[in-house]
Amino acid sequence: METEVETITIPINDYHEVIIYKYKGTNGEYYTLNGINYDINFPVEWILHKPKDYPSFITFGPNECKLCIKNGYYKGVFIGYCKFCARFANYERGNGFIGNGEELSDKSVNDKNSAWNLYLQAVELKNIGDNKLEEEYVLNMTNNGNNDEKNINRVNAIDLMDD
Ligand SMILES: [Zn+2]
Repeated sequence: METEVETITIPINDYHEVIIYKYKGTNGEYYTLNGINYDINFPVEWILHKPKDYPSFITFGPNECKLCIKNGYYKGVFIGYCKFCARFANYERGNGFIGNGEELSDKSVNDKNSAWNLYLQAVELKNIGDNKLEEEYVLNMTNNGNNDEKNINRVNAIDLMDD
């Protein structure tokens, strides 16, 4: 059973604010916003604001993108975007995760844009996530399989890529 550590209120403008709930996981701290668990180091402003000029018809992040859900999680918490979302975000938010906490690191990307050189700079994988959340995540992935409408959106986005 996770223990809530802190409630953090973030003002968006004069009229709106968001509340995030911070928890201490078995491996590391994380926070919850709109039902999604994020590693504590994942920038909240990225959840609230899509990248500038991001194509409006293309899915983005764990709310919308099936590949982010599949590849952007580690131990039950979201740690970074998938490689397609990362690319559409012009690598300003990391190079894109390819699963199990591993980030894309071939010739198509620049190491200086790596999540591990940005928001995960001071973090080690072993200090990320929560065992119970990991169980729930695995169960969810198994139950949802591939018959998800979101999958179709992602495929459309991938069709637009030139590789
Ligand atoms: Zn994605």
